Formats: sequence, structure tokens, C-alpha cells
Amino acid sequence: MQLIDIGANLTHDSFDHDREAVLQRAHAAGVAQLVVTGASREHSPRALALAQAHPGVLFATAGVHPHHASEYTAECDAEMRALLAHDAVVAVGECGLDYFRDFSPRPAQRRAFELQLQSAVDLAVDGAGKPVFLHQRDAHADFMAIMKQFEGRLGPAVVHCFTGTREELFDYLDQDWHIGITGWLCDERRGRHLRELVRSIPANRLMIETDAPYLLPRTVKPAPSHRRNEPMYLAHIVAELARDRGEEVETTARAATAATRAFFRLF
Ligand SMILES: [Zn+2]
Repeated sequence: MQLIDIGANLTHDSFDHDREAVLQRAHAAGVAQLVVTGASREHSPRALALAQAHPGVLFATAGVHPHHASEYTAECDAEMRALLAHDAVVAVGECGLDYFRDFSPRPAQRRAFELQLQSAVDLAVDGAGKPVFLHQRDAHADFMAIMKQFEGRLGPAVVHCFTGTREELFDYLDQDWHIGITGWLCDERRGRHLRELVRSIPANRLMIETDAPYLLPRTVKPAPSHRRNEPMYLAHIVAELARDRGEEVETTARAATAATRAFFRLF
């Protein structure tokens, strides 16, 4: 079984002391490739450096998360575009809107989101826009409105760490976007609705991710004492996901891996 983690925050400082061991454990658990999330001006260059140090295994995104939208200056935009020109940077993002925490003012979030989508359009390869790795929380209407401005000009899009409602899910699927599922699925308090919703995601639109070090699946037993999530737990997430979809785990895993390779062009 070959798995691909499309969202691992491996530049996070909680991995500084044992990053190579984390990668070895992931490999042993069947995680063949990982996309390292770039989520800030500080960490996106580090995501690229990690990918370059592990060619063919690690890839990176380059972007600024809505929490950091206030730092999205013209210089930052130029830095992100320079990162996005590298082959190892396979998507723009993560970018989007987060009105749940509002760590950056909403107008700044919208502006940073629009500028990053414009980068994805401008950096098109062979006529197809660079893939976009999207974050949306409690901002669905504004998120859809901004994406609408770019309709017909963007390449493939994934709404990562989907935790939303049935209506939101179908809005995304109607646009032919991909859906990233994390261990949120395993949260009996907040994620129960996902158990049924994941059955509605077509196999060629479904991708899997840990969002490590965040979102340790609550059903991992025994839970590690430090509560840090790791890419090796992707194997646990796909098993839970397959059960909810009424599929063999190999079926879910194979489809997610194929969808991921096509989406990010990991050949
Ligand atoms: Zn996110």
C-alpha cells in the first residue's frame, strides 16, 4: 500500500529534534510521498528546502495561511512567486480564509487570498494553472465569491482539511474541486458528520492528509504521550476512511494515491 500525505507541516519546530526519524516511521507505515505545507513567509522557504533535500519523496507548497495574511506584502508576493517557480513546489498555498480565528483582519485575508490565486493563474504550466491548496473555515460565502472571480482560470484545486457541512461539500464538488480528509474524521465530538459525508466524495476527488503535527486522530490507540500527530498515522486515517466509505482499505488508498499523483503531477 502506497500512501501520500498531501498536508504535513514538517517545518514545524516540534519536528526539529527528530524529523528524519519521523520520515522513516512514515515510510515504514506505507507513506511513500508527502507534500510539505508552506504556510507562512518564514516557513514556505523551509518547506522547499526540505523537499529539495528529499527529492522524489518530499514536495512542497508555497503560500501564506490566512492566519498570517497581514504579512502578505508586495515583497512577500514576490518571494512566494520565486518559490513557486521551483519544480519541487507543486501547489500554491496554503491560502484561503479563516473567520473562525480571525488572527489576521478579514480584508487582509481576502487580499492575500486573491493575490495568491492570481499567482496560480500567472504561473500556469502548459496552459494549466498551478494547483491550489485551499483552507476555508467559517468563511464559505466569501471563499466561494473569491474563487468565482477566478473561475475558468485556475488549475486543479483542493479544499484541504475539509470539516464543513453537506452544502459546502457539494458546492466544492460541483466545482470539480478535490477534498482533503484528515484525522478530524476520527473526532467523535466534532467530526461525526464526516463519517457519512465522505461516502459522497467521488474516489477521483478524494485525497488524504494528516495536517501533522496538528489533529492527532483521537482513535489512535495508544495515543502518544506528547499528542503530536505524525505522517505515519495516515495509515490509520485511511483505514477509518475506508470503513466509513464501505470499501477495502486498499481500494481507498489506491484511488487516493492515483488522484494525488494526477493532481500535483508527481511523476
Ligand atoms: Zn489549513
